[in-house]
Amino acid sequence: MTNLVDAVGLHRRFGAIHAVRGLDLHVPPGQVLGFLGPNGAGKSTTMRMLTGYLAPTEGSISLAGIDLARNPLDARRTFGYLPEGAPCYPDMRVDDFLAFIARARGMDARAGSGRITSVVERVHLGDVLHQRIETLSKGFKRRVGLAQALLHDPPILILDEPTDGLDPNQKHEVRELIRQLGTERAIVLSTHILEEVEAVCTRAIIIRQGKILFDGTPSDLEARAPAGVTKNKMDHVFRSITREQQPRGEPIG
Ligand code: ATP
Repeated sequence: MTNLVDAVGLHRRFGAIHAVRGLDLHVPPGQVLGFLGPNGAGKSTTMRMLTGYLAPTEGSISLAGIDLARNPLDARRTFGYLPEGAPCYPDMRVDDFLAFIARARGMDARAGSGRITSVVERVHLGDVLHQRIETLSKGFKRRVGLAQALLHDPPILILDEPTDGLDPNQKHEVRELIRQLGTERAIVLSTHILEEVEAVCTRAIIIRQGKILFDGTPSDLEARAPAGVTKNKMDHVFRSITREQQPRGEPIG
């Protein structure tokens, strides 16, 4: 199967900090990849490189077969990105914001309006369309973020902590939506929550200090979580996996 995301030999340095150290990532359509790791592991740096916001120090990225460095504009059309936090433009109404994004992505009024109707239905935004973004609850702000990511119907979705700050019902809804979207798209999402990986992901990768520590199915990952670990707390899992991979006698950093 042809991959939609192909990243090879990614490195990123910030001065003396070597944040990402030789990462390879290949994601086919139909895969929801959960990207996990402790604070400072390099998750956001990797996602920012995949979305073209940050250039790798070394390595190459190809999205839906398009090289991101050589052809950035076409490569950027292949994905929708949900960054951390709320969408920008807090003063805009939801409908105006989505129309603005549609225009920015080159859709004419008719095509834009058709796509807006479709995503609004998909992420259940109908009741707040005329409200200003800053007046929305956290859950609705997240949904507006998802709506803009889906507007041009991209084959790839890159979602930075998509359910962060949502209440249990909202989390459940957004996870269900991601599962549906993931049947035909390639999705890369970052999370700190083990339960989220089990609920939506078909594959999990753990990175630590910029390197891949674990790559497998969510059930493999769960099997390696120590007994009694709180489902929400990944720290124990990271420590346990790190310990297994640490050569004898070396300190666990
Ligand atoms: P978290 O879960 O806390 O968001 P993360 O896994 O997303 O962490 P990154 O934000 O990718 O981690 O950071 C990886 C390393 O790179 C950290 O040591 C961080 O301090 C460093 N770093 C990230 N961005 C920059 C920057 N712009 N300048 C300097 N150092 C940076």
